[in-house]
Amino acid sequence: MLASLAPQRRTNEPVDLFIIGGGVNGTGIARDAAGRGLSVTLAEKGDLAQATSSASSKMFHGGLRYLEYYEFRLVREALREREVLLEAMPHIAWPMRFVLPYHAGLRAKPILRLGLFLYDHLGGRDILPATRTLNLRHAPAGQPLKPGYTTGYEYSDCWVQDSRLVALNAVDAAERGATILTRTKVIGVRRGEALWEIDVEDVETGAQTLHRAHRLVNATGPWVADVLTNTLGMETKEHVRIVRGSHIVVPRLYDHDHPYILQGADGRVVFVIPYEHDFTLIGTTDHDHDASPDEVHCTDEEVAYLCDFVSEYFARPVTPDDVVWSYSGVRPLYDDGASSAQAATREYVLSLDANGPPLLNIFGGKITTYRKLAEAALEKLGLGQPWTARVPLPGGDFPWDGAPALVRALQDSYPFLTPRWAERLVHSYGTKARALLGTARQPEDLGAAFGATLTEAELRWLRDHEFARTGDDALWRRTRLGLVLTEAERAAVDDWFKGKRTPKA
Ligand SMILES: Cc1cc2nc3c(=O)[nH]c(=O)nc-3n(C[C@H](O)[C@H](O)[C@H](O)COP(=O)(O)OP(=O)(O)OC[C@H]3O[C@@H](n4cnc5c(N)ncnc54)[C@H](O)[C@@H]3O)c2cc1C
Repeated sequence: MLASLAPQRRTNEPVDLFIIGGGVNGTGIARDAAGRGLSVTLAEKGDLAQATSSASSKMFHGGLRYLEYYEFRLVREALREREVLLEAMPHIAWPMRFVLPYHAGLRAKPILRLGLFLYDHLGGRDILPATRTLNLRHAPAGQPLKPGYTTGYEYSDCWVQDSRLVALNAVDAAERGATILTRTKVIGVRRGEALWEIDVEDVETGAQTLHRAHRLVNATGPWVADVLTNTLGMETKEHVRIVRGSHIVVPRLYDHDHPYILQGADGRVVFVIPYEHDFTLIGTTDHDHDASPDEVHCTDEEVAYLCDFVSEYFARPVTPDDVVWSYSGVRPLYDDGASSAQAATREYVLSLDANGPPLLNIFGGKITTYRKLAEAALEKLGLGQPWTARVPLPGGDFPWDGAPALVRALQDSYPFLTPRWAERLVHSYGTKARALLGTARQPEDLGAAFGATLTEAELRWLRDHEFARTGDDALWRRTRLGLVLTEAERAAVDDWFKGKRTPKA
């Protein structure tokens, strides 16, 4: 069945579950709940994944570093979850082999080996290969590094396109009957005897609507405490610790496909990951963030920190002048009173208030554990049975290692697609790429061309099936083509969404 955004439920009958927040946690819960046969409405004040869930390091990972903080439960759950998620979304997630260079003077080799042994065995693996030791004098991964790095360890984790993960959860939730409202801010909430009354505002028109629900979920990530206090008017002893993490993007630093995990003298680690073919993604920082979650950007100091960190390892230094793009997000961590931002727990906490119609507040979480978090949330609310493990997201109904075959098959059916174009479509839309391309026999059949293989047919797909409403939604969250389009091309995409003229096919 094709995802369709219309007709969505239009009545204001009370729903079983009303969810505030369209990040990975809100949409994950919406999908799970809708699949359990519940009536669900989700309100997101901006675009889906507009906040933390599009600003992550984009890894399904156990979190090697968290072993040092004895977060064994979380690491085990996340490690196990990697393969469950890979099988459900082989279009937007795939395995990667990370390289950890040994740095004399930092963690000793036996410590690294012990950590990696635990990492290999704590969660169990069927698909992902085990750790191996590398001689960096000869391995391709040693080539771009300074000559002093002679030993490395190669271990498994996975990549995921974070904001597409959110969009596809929302699409699947909608296909299962949920109402997904974007650009819809929850501005007031009242708790009645048996029902919640929720006032929402369409942020584009200012129109206000009243919704009613039997249960309310506050999945607003970094805003969770603010919404609880200021929108729901409730007091809470629980707090989030808002920790900013920034990434920089530079032109591709090296020719092979391995990402690196680099250790710093400050005890932190930084990832260096091949990104969107022509780029390398470097991150992240870890700073307590005192400003509003609405105001997050990468500072010059953070850019300098990341450049220096990487230049300690790479033969060719990385400088702030190399940076073509940067982004920042804030981790909504449960405040466990830890001394530093990096030591604060990465565990999620679900806090249920059942003094009247139930309210569930979500504190913390990781992209990797979103599905387990959704299951735990619905269990806490006593609603239905788990069903999402390994069940494909839209377009993900093919084997975890089947993407290359799908790319070849797509090119056979649509010979005008270049290999890179076909690969991009498969890694975005999976088996749905065919529905997007329809009966096209030549590029012109896909309508106007906006640059970098983006066509009007794809924009139409994003608008009609994936909740995209603006150029930024399409270029920075449903795709990452914003990185390669010119300013004029980006403006043309935005104009298309505003219904203005489009370039010629
Ligand atoms: C730098 C960084 C790197 C990370 N890397 C990884 C990683 O590699 N792997 C991993 O597993 N995890 C990673 N994480 C963690 C992960 O990104 C987050 O835990 C996750 O995205 C949080 O999702 P969320 O849905 O809770 O919050 P969000 O994505 O922030 O969603 C909350 C939503 O609520 C909406 N909202 C707020 N108030 C209202 C309102 N009144 N009405 C309607 N909507 C509202 C917001 O607009 C927002 O979209 C990283 C985090 C950061 C910051």
